[in-house]
Amino acid sequence: MAMNAARSLDTVSSVVDLRSRVQAWRADGLRIALVPTMGALHEGHLSLIRRAKTFADKVVVSIFVNPTQFGPTEDFAKYPRQLDEDRFRVAMAGAALVFAPTVEDMYPPGFCTTITVEGPSHGLCGAVRPGHFQGVATVVTKLLLQCLPDVAIFGEKDYQQLQVIRRMVRDLDIPVEIDGAPIVREVDGLAMSSRNAYLSDKERSVANLMYKALHRATLALHDGAPVAEALDTARAEITAAGFGKIDYLDLRDADGLAPLEAFDRPARLFCAAFLGKTRLIDNIPVEPRE
Ligand code: AMP
Repeated sequence: MAMNAARSLDTVSSVVDLRSRVQAWRADGLRIALVPTMGALHEGHLSLIRRAKTFADKVVVSIFVNPTQFGPTEDFAKYPRQLDEDRFRVAMAGAALVFAPTVEDMYPPGFCTTITVEGPSHGLCGAVRPGHFQGVATVVTKLLLQCLPDVAIFGEKDYQQLQVIRRMVRDLDIPVEIDGAPIVREVDGLAMSSRNAYLSDKERSVANLMYKALHRATLALHDGAPVAEALDTARAEITAAGFGKIDYLDLRDADGLAPLEAFDRPARLFCAAFLGKTRLIDNIPVEPRE
């Protein structure tokens, strides 16, 4: 039964085929959701698919490891690729179609257009991964225009990415609703990520301590601790846990992501740090008391 669902899951790789499926659904008056992913699917991705099903009749999952959002020294070549297993999971989660284009389909010879979003792209990951959000914005624009869904779902795990996409869709009048889905965590608090597969057993056993430190910092902020003090404590805890370089640990406005010196409005606490060779990111919402 399960195997049959996976086997019969429709998978297309060309834009022409994607559009013909979507147009047929539209002709039947159906609502369509898109869940963009880079594959190596875990429960976090599946939660997006299940959520998408509550908004739409048909869910399209794109699986594409986008080379343009990786820096030259990043993990594009070794990023996990497992299309058969992913198709099985997508089928089980109830999506109707997988769109899995090739790099050549997405970026044919002569491709020379990029989308640059200022504002929320600045700072945090934008500061340490030059070109990353340009790559993300360009591929997401392509995926949205290829599929033309009613709604597209993105995870708060990549909160800055979500805000970049929201801004871009507003600025370019792309006719799609953007929905943000909460972070799905392992039982010990570690945010699920395809990159967690890189962690050794020893690294995995301490990886959740970043989340624990962020969580404690949000409690301290609630209790009125000064922002700099709460961040310093969290930084020390993350280092003591065994993390190496901390790319950033920062409290930002939850909407436009402007840096916050005082904790006086809905905010988000962000962290990116290396555990061995693996770069982990996480973030937590934090609201001042009334
Ligand atoms: P990726 O395959 O890493 O590009 O992620 C595809 C989508 O899944 C993005 O919108 C991510 O934010 C989202 N996502 C990844 N991990 C999680 C998670 N642990 N919880 C919720 N959403 C997630």
